[in-house]
Amino acid sequence: MNQLQRAGIDNFKANFRGEVLLRGDAAYDEVRQIWNAMIDRKPALITRCKSAEDVIRAVRFARESDVIVSVRGGGHNIAGNAVCDEGLMIDLSLMKRVQVDTARRRATVEAGCTLADFDAAAQVHGLATPLGINSTTGVAGLTLGGGFGWLSRKYGMTVDNLLAVEIVTADGRQVRASPSENADLFWGVRGGGGNFGVVTSFEFQLHPIGPNVLSGLIVFPFDQAKAVLTQFARFTEEMPDELNVWMVTRKAPPLPFLPVEVHGKEIVALAVCYAGDPKKGESLIAPLRGFGKAHGEHIGVQPYSAWQQAFDPLLTKGARNYWKSHNFSQLGDGAIDTIIQYAGTLPSPQCEIFIAALGGQTARIAPEATAYSCRDAKYVMNVHGRWESSADDERCITWAREFFSKSKPFASDGVYINFLTQEESDRVAFAYGPTYKRLVDLKKKYDPTNFFRMNQNIKPS
Ligand SMILES: Cc1cc2nc3c(=O)[nH]c(=O)nc-3n(C[C@H](O)[C@H](O)[C@H](O)COP(=O)(O)OP(=O)(O)OC[C@H]3O[C@@H](n4cnc5c(N)ncnc54)[C@H](O)[C@@H]3O)c2cc1C
Repeated sequence: MNQLQRAGIDNFKANFRGEVLLRGDAAYDEVRQIWNAMIDRKPALITRCKSAEDVIRAVRFARESDVIVSVRGGGHNIAGNAVCDEGLMIDLSLMKRVQVDTARRRATVEAGCTLADFDAAAQVHGLATPLGINSTTGVAGLTLGGGFGWLSRKYGMTVDNLLAVEIVTADGRQVRASPSENADLFWGVRGGGGNFGVVTSFEFQLHPIGPNVLSGLIVFPFDQAKAVLTQFARFTEEMPDELNVWMVTRKAPPLPFLPVEVHGKEIVALAVCYAGDPKKGESLIAPLRGFGKAHGEHIGVQPYSAWQQAFDPLLTKGARNYWKSHNFSQLGDGAIDTIIQYAGTLPSPQCEIFIAALGGQTARIAPEATAYSCRDAKYVMNVHGRWESSADDERCITWAREFFSKSKPFASDGVYINFLTQEESDRVAFAYGPTYKRLVDLKKKYDPTNFFRMNQNIKPS
């Protein structure tokens, strides 16, 4: 704080068009609080930028003041690097413009947009690009780490649909990166996180989707878990690119289509989305119903944007969260048995193990074509520890860690950088694998002093 005061916050404010928050300001606590309530950091200054020019000013001010900088897009990242202690937090969440060019099927998206902001603008035109499955997630952090969701098997990772970015680099300059401008930087931002600068806007390729898609849930009793998971593993090896089937095992929330006696009991659910003609999807999903005798299902044709929000009520801001993640190139008996063992000892009603089945177009890109390299990650597993009270921290974290280590022998190389917790900086090189060395070289070129280090950090040396 003193450092920043000395450097002249008042001077800075005079030219800044957005909002500046200091401790004691009414909105300070609300803005510094991110999705994961385990993170409780207090920046000396929060700059709520309204334009790329504001971002340039904030970066230059932090540089001159020699303070640490953190960057907040949607504030969803589990590691909590969006907020720093005692430094300058660049909050982009007021930058929400989305411009859709329907003729060229492109969208320019400002860095404070959530998935819901993006979908609202693109779906009016029946267009979309692969993003995540929870509409309150930020487009920025998700994209910079790779990004995947219901459209990825058909159209690839989010970064495979990225056409260009506007980015403010560590020296306070705004540059454009695309295949033809600063191509090395463009390669790096397609997976390299916030290591190379503050992206102020993203340009995406769009695709015709919906506006209605066949989607929903089938919920099986937990005592059928082995049969369901074994068939899930086989089915997902063969399914067409348009079809997505993900698995989640947890205690049943009070969903209206489930009998009351099932609420709060362990279940295995298949989440289904067909990114094509719903009529064609109906016949393709029929075999899923034969995986067991379901408690119930809720599958139908609904707006794509509504399906994008279907999981929001289970993933609200403010709970305590701790994640561990593995990639798998296949799901064999060992992995399945371990999942079932730990799903049988869930330490809280909100903890869950979910598996996204990727493959399809995500796997057809060469691992070194983008900084994101986990192209053989057929299955991405997230051990999602989630609970309400700090009194449960140890119990829930221990469960997640134990399951993580017991399932490790079955995992493949790499891990999704966006699912790493704050204590996992030792997994960053492993996460990138074949692209790590090139990322280090790029960091040396664009950020030799490691000015941007509140992230899953790629150190310049
Ligand atoms: C409930 C939930 C569901 C999720 N579902 C999915 C999913 O389906 N698919 C998927 O791929 N991921 C998913 N994720 C993970 C998600 O991709 C990451 O949490 C991602 O980092 C969130 O981005 P954000 O902008 O909201 O996060 P923030 O916490 O704001 O940012 C994360 C980090 O990214 C960097 N950053 C953010 N914005 C910028 C910027 N403009 N310029 C430079 N650096 C920046 C910073 O280093 C920052 O610390 C999910 C996360 C949650 C919590």
